[in-house]
Amino acid sequence: MKDPIDLPLHRSGLPPSERRFRSRIAQLASSQWFLRGTLSERFRKCGKSNCRCAQGDPHKSLYLVQSHAGRPRQICVPKVWEQRVRQAVAGYQQMQQLIEEVSELEWDRLRERKR
Ligand SMILES: [Zn+2]
Repeated sequence: MKDPIDLPLHRSGLPPSERRFRSRIAQLASSQWFLRGTLSERFRKCGKSNCRCAQGDPHKSLYLVQSHAGRPRQICVPKVWEQRVRQAVAGYQQMQQLIEEVSELEWDRLRERKR
């Protein structure tokens, strides 16, 4: 009997649910930006006495926060980048969920020794 490592992956041998997850992964991979992190809106006053923020209408800034090499880091998201970054963050989360689904199926195969 062949070792599991020598068994090629044949799409036709996969259950329909896994084929759907993999199709969605391929579709996302070719159409989406990916960015890991959490978006955080911050409000601040710029300090100019004649600015609207001095009257209680603070400036809004959007930051992307992520853990990188074990440390938190953040980057300011300019307004013109906001839509793209929001989509990239959502794309990353979708991809992560899909990979997790496929991983679960492989976990089950391993547990059941089912190649
Ligand atoms: Zn201001």
